[in-house]
Amino acid sequence: MQREEKYIDRAWEATFDAISDWVAIIDTDHRILRVNRAFAQNFSKTPAEIEGKLFSEIIKNSAECYAECPHRKAMDTGQPASAEIFEPALGKYLEISTYPIFDEGGVFFTCVAIIKDVTERKRLEQVKSEFINTVSHELRTPLTTIREVVSQFMDGVLGEITAEQKDFLSITIEDIDRLTRIINSLLDISKIEAKKVDLRREQVDMAALAKGVAVSFLPRFKDRGLEIRTSFSSEKIEVYVDRDKVIQVFTNLVGNALKFTEKGSVEIRVEDRQDEGVECRVVDTGRGIAEEDIPKVFSKFQQFGRIEGPGEKGTGLGLSIAQGLVELHGGNIRIESRFGEGTEFIFTLPKYTAEEMIRDSVERKISLSKKEEKPVSLFIIRLDDYGKIEDKYTKEKAREIFLKVSSALERSVRVGELVMQKGRDEVIVLEEIGKQHISCVAERLKKVVKESVLEFSEVDEINFSYCSATFPDDAKNTYDLFEQARLCFVSEKEVRLSKHIMVADDDPAVLATLQRAFNAFGYRYITQAGDGDELLEKLKVAIPDLIVLDMKMPHMNGYEVIGRLKEDVRTKDIPIIIMSGYKVEYEQLSEYVKKKAIPVLGKPVDMEQLKKFVGHLL
Ligand code: ADP
Repeated sequence: MQREEKYIDRAWEATFDAISDWVAIIDTDHRILRVNRAFAQNFSKTPAEIEGKLFSEIIKNSAECYAECPHRKAMDTGQPASAEIFEPALGKYLEISTYPIFDEGGVFFTCVAIIKDVTERKRLEQVKSEFINTVSHELRTPLTTIREVVSQFMDGVLGEITAEQKDFLSITIEDIDRLTRIINSLLDISKIEAKKVDLRREQVDMAALAKGVAVSFLPRFKDRGLEIRTSFSSEKIEVYVDRDKVIQVFTNLVGNALKFTEKGSVEIRVEDRQDEGVECRVVDTGRGIAEEDIPKVFSKFQQFGRIEGPGEKGTGLGLSIAQGLVELHGGNIRIESRFGEGTEFIFTLPKYTAEEMIRDSVERKISLSKKEEKPVSLFIIRLDDYGKIEDKYTKEKAREIFLKVSSALERSVRVGELVMQKGRDEVIVLEEIGKQHISCVAERLKKVVKESVLEFSEVDEINFSYCSATFPDDAKNTYDLFEQARLCFVSEKEVRLSKHIMVADDDPAVLATLQRAFNAFGYRYITQAGDGDELLEKLKVAIPDLIVLDMKMPHMNGYEVIGRLKEDVRTKDIPIIIMSGYKVEYEQLSEYVKKKAIPVLGKPVDMEQLKKFVGHLL
């Protein structure tokens, strides 16, 4: 007996070694306890060299587990789990199925992983998809021509035809339309299977969308003497989905309901289930589906209880496409049906947070930019402290300012660029520009923010921070792009306070007052000049970011200084603030100043006014 058991144990081990899939026993720390021969051979190692190592270390040379790791899932849920993973280190697609194993007390202690190399299957699936895709595309074009010609014959455009000929032609047109539907469905399904469907998500009111679908079906329901109704849990139910794709799902379900309902009604229901998403139902009082057929409804080319006769013949692909589209949105679809009583299709679409919506939009821009090989830059502008305000009045004001800033930013970008609000204090801007233009755009955006808050006279100053990152230079995906950008947030105020201001006045008392005022505002880098000559001399050493200029100075007055500054390429763009005790004689200044592009402060200088001007110009 003992001898037999020993043989059985050896036979059992030999069985594992005879299996061509890779088999491993893994403990709760994801360490490999045992592997079969196929597993070890694949890595050109002996089982002893593998046992004791981390599973991820062997498969992908890293201590980090897969995000969708089935072992973790099996451990967490106590249920078998599987996942398909592409492993770049091996260049292979792996299907990993994990089965949890419990001790006598029901405590999880290990799991068995069976790993299949599905690379070849994936390749064949891809070849098949590409083949269907190409063939379908090629068939579509001649079909359009054939339909056009047959229609012209039927309408008598190409000569008189008899009633009998017309009947034949109309059958031909019906079949051409059916063929077109099949081809379109094949194209859809091959795109879904090849994961080549791009979802163009937007904020969609599902109640309005469902109403629209019902209205478009109304004439066909009336013709058949059926009723179509809608019901919603609330007036507006917003989700972030691809509108056209959701319409396609509804159209298929309502179209089926219409096809398979002889009397009674069809109802579209949409219910907001808060965190669980939005649940949509298409309920009919039709012929229903037999219990044994229900598990097959979402499979391709399945049609049940077909009754021969006139009417639109289906393709048996509609429900697989509907399922594919719902799943692409991260949702699910199911059916409840009773033969002879009616059918209910229920699909749920998940809700998205603002954060997820923003990431999705950025994701789309990035994949577009990848295709066109163009860079994209992300800018985040955050109004400091505004998200944290508690007091009701200030909060409302803050909201008003935030909206004003974001709409000003929206107006400032080119058509097609993205501007999105995040929370109560952040605006995200995405522009198709490369790294070399970052600072230029950042300056422009800063100006827009400053200008848009200027009119809020009751607000002393708006502090904001900004950051940016460029794809593909700084990051290769959306997540990293945000992370990278957020790493380098800079405070506009901090940058501004470190800028260089040059003040020119012949009165030492004015210079001293200005110096004190600027220091009190927080500006650290101030240079003084006693007259125009000294100012120009100092400009040879360092170019300031702003010049505050008295107009009436000995030797060289302010008018001449401005003239000189504007002549020199190094100095022509330095912002200037004029201080003058007299009326500024604009005719003495160039066009530039006449247009009041240079702000003027009357003397004695109003310090609050000065602070605003400086804050705006720097
Ligand atoms: P098609 O409608 O083009 O045949 P579908 O994939 O949309 O293909 O549907 C597959 C099959 O499921 C249909 O042929 C029909 O037999 C059954 N079916 C779908 N919807 C209903 C329904 N509302 N009531 C009864 N049977 C249905």
